[in-house]
Amino acid sequence: MLLFFRLILFALLVYFALAPDITLAELLIAAIAYFGFEFNIRRQQHKKAVTVAADEIRATLRLHPTLYYNRLQEAQKQEFEARVIRFIAQKTFIPRGPGMDVTTEMQMKIAACAVQLTFGLPEIHFSHFKTFLLYPERYYSTIYKQYHCGEVNMRGIIVLSWRDFETGNYNPADGLNLGLHEMAHALHLENGIPNGEYDFLNREYLYHWATVSETERERLQTDKSIFRRLSSAPDTHEFFAVAVELFFELPLLLKQEHPGIYSSLANLLNQDPATGAQHAAAPPHHTQTIATL
Ligand SMILES: [Zn+2]
Repeated sequence: MLLFFRLILFALLVYFALAPDITLAELLIAAIAYFGFEFNIRRQQHKKAVTVAADEIRATLRLHPTLYYNRLQEAQKQEFEARVIRFIAQKTFIPRGPGMDVTTEMQMKIAACAVQLTFGLPEIHFSHFKTFLLYPERYYSTIYKQYHCGEVNMRGIIVLSWRDFETGNYNPADGLNLGLHEMAHALHLENGIPNGEYDFLNREYLYHWATVSETERERLQTDKSIFRRLSSAPDTHEFFAVAVELFFELPLLLKQEHPGIYSSLANLLNQDPATGAQHAAAPPHHTQTIATL
């Protein structure tokens, strides 16, 4: 029926355009009516597509919940879902490599990592990083001349090996999580990129973290335990990304063995996973000013 009306309107527009005694004003009115109708239809279709996508993402998250999401209270779950949906809406996910496809579940899992990391902060989307490139497994970097499982580059691209991403998710308590690791890099970088999300981390906590990470990185040089990845971190950016993995996957152990690292991260991210407080009094969406966080 809709197609029928569109054809009728289009035929009328053509008729008016070809009619010998039509005035310019009449032709203009006919054209406005036709294109207005078309614009309205497309707007309605787009609105419907967005709604369907949001429902699908929400259903996928409920069907394949992450451990973090599972531990949230119902109201927090709804906020988490809303953040995941808005995060996905702002990103482009591009499959790379033979046979690779990007499903709603994959997008949801990636977004869930970003939202988990930032759930204690005012909502941010790492707006500089608009594109995710997803490889089925480790990919060869022509820049570094070696195989990588993930990277965050300043051209606004986050690259992930899906196999490694899933391995990181498979055991949520082994201290290894590629998704959280790369999102931590993105968070650290985004905070310093002058755009709408610039400077969102509390400066005092960030300064404290910089001091802690520098001294702990030195002190941990001979550490042989599960924390040796921290000791081998080549710089403070890598130290932060590894510390974030441990913070969420082994919070009790990190707090017990390295309380300075734990408490500094807990303040910076406004979360306390060791006590089961997944979401430590996060401010409502977009209501807290960046400077006063
Ligand atoms: Zn890294």
